[in-house]
Amino acid sequence: MYEQLDRWLEQHSEELIEDLKTLVAFDSVAVPTEGEHPYGDAVAACLDATLALAAKAGMRTRNFGYHAGTIDLTDGEPALGILGHLDVVPAPADGWDTPPFTLTVKHGNAYGRGAIDDKGPTLAVLYAMRAIKELGLPLKHNVRLIAGCCEEIGGADMVYYQQQQAFPPMLFTPDGNFPVINIEKGRLPSYFSAKLPPISDKAGIVSVNAGSVINAVPAEATAVLRGYEPAAVDALTRDAALDGIRWVLTEGKDLTLTAIGAAAHGSTPDKGCNALTALLSVLAKLEGDHEPLRALSRLFPHGDHSGVAAGIACRDEVSGPLTASLDICRLSADGSLEAAMDCRFPVSETADGLAATLRLNAEAEGLACRSDGVEPHYVDSDSHFVQTLLRVYEQQTGLSGECLAIGGGTYVHDTENGVAFGPEFPGEEYHMHAPNEFIPLETLRRCASIYAHAILALCND
Ligand SMILES: [Zn+2]
Repeated sequence: MYEQLDRWLEQHSEELIEDLKTLVAFDSVAVPTEGEHPYGDAVAACLDATLALAAKAGMRTRNFGYHAGTIDLTDGEPALGILGHLDVVPAPADGWDTPPFTLTVKHGNAYGRGAIDDKGPTLAVLYAMRAIKELGLPLKHNVRLIAGCCEEIGGADMVYYQQQQAFPPMLFTPDGNFPVINIEKGRLPSYFSAKLPPISDKAGIVSVNAGSVINAVPAEATAVLRGYEPAAVDALTRDAALDGIRWVLTEGKDLTLTAIGAAAHGSTPDKGCNALTALLSVLAKLEGDHEPLRALSRLFPHGDHSGVAAGIACRDEVSGPLTASLDICRLSADGSLEAAMDCRFPVSETADGLAATLRLNAEAEGLACRSDGVEPHYVDSDSHFVQTLLRVYEQQTGLSGECLAIGGGTYVHDTENGVAFGPEFPGEEYHMHAPNEFIPLETLRRCASIYAHAILALCND
């Protein structure tokens, strides 16, 4: 069916790359700004350029105060919304082999900031719409591309948009993974605090320092120790015998003990090796008046990625286990202790319920605890909408289509009915948010084709 679609996309592949070059050239990091351009001039210019491409192709466009723009394929209320974004994460030139804002094609890949996240996929949708329009393929219901301007800094663009317009009854974002992400776990970032007695001049733990952001497993954790025998500390690190942890002990006026592990995203703590929990397990065994550090180590023993010791472990079949990762810890010289945990929980739980349990268990250990909760996101995998997306994916790729549950949140987390549908294919790595971000030209072509077939399937029912 629709063989002419792929021919059209093939004939316009060079043009698509040229347009992507135009969009990638904008250093469109969203920066909250007073005035006409709420996220800065660069994102606004990128939105203008995108809407101009659609207008040139004869499509109806609308600018929602530079929070977002829309592109409609036909008249009438849209049955399907597709939600992409034009802002990007910063790209300091360090570490890039090509200039980040000059799209560079080599070895069949297009390199540049925003290539995969999310300018390339957003353009793939626009080209899918153009193909349908220019070939005159029948469409019963309208489809609307919504191009947002601040996904990377928290999505206030969609709050604004929804004050003006409701989302269409079917909604997907090309800003996640294939086949379909229909489950995004809830989040329960939690913060612990306690006060330690000031250390005496002779002995004690002077400071602890680990982690900088709550959603990253710390690769390094350091403690400054006063009055301990180096040999004794060294022996404790040996006794601990923690796989994947390297210890560095430096002698000076005080001892400095550093644990070196491996970083990972906070939603997948089992992929890293948490230097902080390793360090705490050794500090817990040191003599001295630092009970709150021992308490933290009891709640988050090294290797416990699922909140077992903290009393919040749970799982369900559709979303898998809760994950918990203690990612930040600061003990200052005045004895104040602050720590933070990233936690992602299954759809069968609620933020309030888990927060209450965690607080009780932390307080029983003498730690104050507060949590911020974001409820999980879930769209029925048996719905006609999701089943249609999976079928189109299977037909167009020959790969098996099944729903995915993730610990992270996508652009549609706070929507009623949205799912993520591409652009990342299983097992591929595109350096998203990192230097040398790229989209394979084959992925760009496949995305345009899959999105065109998805629009035709969903808007003709
Ligand atoms: Zn994105």
